[in-house]
Amino acid sequence: MKLVALPAFTDNYIWMLHDDRQAIVVDPGDAAPVAAALDGLGLALAAILVTHHHPDHVGGVAALRPRLQGGQVWGPARESIPLPFLPLADGDVVDLLGLRFQVIDVPGHTAGHIAYYLPATGDGEAPVLFCGDTLFSGGCGRLFEGTPAQMHQSLGRLAGLPGNTRVCCAHEYTESNLKFAQAVEPANAALARYTVACRALRAGGLPTLPSTIAQERAINPFMRCNAPDVITAAQTQGAADASGPAVLGALRAWKNQFR
Ligand code: ZN
Ligand code: FE
Repeated sequence: MKLVALPAFTDNYIWMLHDDRQAIVVDPGDAAPVAAALDGLGLALAAILVTHHHPDHVGGVAALRPRLQGGQVWGPARESIPLPFLPLADGDVVDLLGLRFQVIDVPGHTAGHIAYYLPATGDGEAPVLFCGDTLFSGGCGRLFEGTPAQMHQSLGRLAGLPGNTRVCCAHEYTESNLKFAQAVEPANAALARYTVACRALRAGGLPTLPSTIAQERAINPFMRCNAPDVITAAQTQGAADASGPAVLGALRAWKNQFR
């Protein structure tokens, strides 16, 4: 299976998995880059997977639907996405192109947000996670519909996936996230190294993604709410106590106004 990031809008990625014949796309906010990739590579569209209802994730579904030729749109059961779609919730599995995707509920950015985890790609490659706007490299989504406690739990579940899991986020927000992460944890050496590597990728016009779960555990402050320096920084920003939800809530509020 080949894993491709299709850039869309200003900073979105539409992720595509394909076997040189058939493709699965995740969160096609815009149909045009998907259509161009399918036509360019001579691929049929086997399925569309959606993580949450925001327009930059579902805007291209209607225009791509005619290409599905019997394939289906799958999405979060608790959100309204373009009909018809097959509803998914925590613990469900989706079998496509010989792959079995596991559905994980990750509320926080939106109330019904789901992620898709692929433990094995059939060719001995590392697991893959499609996490939409829940986990970004170095950051997490804004809490539009959920609470800090929900996001803390959701990120905790993703942190529990194997360290080599390839993390396919829906936005290229890494550089600005890392600027914030360094304000939170200036002494984190792994973060400093990763920042240099990501800056080089962006200077070369390349995506910083996929990241890995191990990388995020080491550098993402929102996944490090129990690290002493992160707790201290959050408390200077008003975290009421050292609990995960309080720390995450303070970090998120700080990040919202960080420049
Ligand atoms: Zn979103
Ligand atoms: Fe988004």
